[in-house]
Amino acid sequence: MKNENALQSRRQKVLIVDDTLANIEILYNILQGEYEIFFAKSGTDGLRIIRKELPDLILLDIMMPDMDGYQVCAAIKEDPITAVIPIIFITAMTNVEAETKGLDCGAIDYITKPISPPIVKARVRNHLELKRSRDLLQSLALELGEKNRKLEILAREDGLTGLANRRHFNEVLDAEIKRALRTHQFLSVILCDVDYFKKYNDQYGHVAGDKCLQAIGEIMRGNFKRAGDLPARYGGEEFAAILPDTSPESGVQMAERLREEMVAWALPHSEAGVQGIVTLSVGVVGGQANRGRNAEWFISQADEALYRSKENGRNQVTAVQYP
Ligand SMILES: [Mg+2]
Repeated sequence: MKNENALQSRRQKVLIVDDTLANIEILYNILQGEYEIFFAKSGTDGLRIIRKELPDLILLDIMMPDMDGYQVCAAIKEDPITAVIPIIFITAMTNVEAETKGLDCGAIDYITKPISPPIVKARVRNHLELKRSRDLLQSLALELGEKNRKLEILAREDGLTGLANRRHFNEVLDAEIKRALRTHQFLSVILCDVDYFKKYNDQYGHVAGDKCLQAIGEIMRGNFKRAGDLPARYGGEEFAAILPDTSPESGVQMAERLREEMVAWALPHSEAGVQGIVTLSVGVVGGQANRGRNAEWFISQADEALYRSKENGRNQVTAVQYP
């Protein structure tokens, strides 16, 4: 994983903020071999470097003129980008209140002067290791989230047309039937099939066949785009649409409009009989959902209607309408 490697190999950045140069030098000498060290002699300067460099750890003096360590800490915590950077207070103050105040304002640790080099080294290392783990975890979580989103899309989308695939169509149909049962609304379902599509593939080749299906996908998308409409690729050259809250009459109108649009597109198909263009046979079922009318019922009704469109000469809409 590339993120992991980048995070593991990067030299971590430590910022020292102290108004006394001698203190900076001591800390610098303790830490310089292992980390990339930055330093600032005032809170204002420190904040500027923090925003620019986004260090992995900040060693912050409390007693400083102008802006003291608490104020610097508060400013770091205020900005969501810098708020996650761990802060260790380093100070000569040894009373409990000072320590509590420092931890309260969001510092992760507290080291008192005079400092012991091994202790500073160990604590800095611990906090930086924690920071590295957190960063790694966060980047993995982001990567995982991204992959999950892609998978979710793949799982419900037809690769060729970008329409919903059959699996997603079935899920949505189940959900819409349940909703229609609850709201006593109509539901219409359209099934359609490209006429003489096998002959089209034989005549023009599979690349052209795929382009034809993609274009029909676009027509489907353009026709069924009200909120809740779900156009789908149901199988090879079969398309379908779920039309929630749609009366049988409106369902027929929408199916007829789809058929007409396909004719208007006039894609040449020399093997498609007298018309010589690609056409659709369409079956549509509309009615209120009730206990006996589940997903299979809607599909089989639409499928039967589609079959009759084929039997009666193709390029037509057959409807079954129920109250
Ligand atoms: Mg000081």
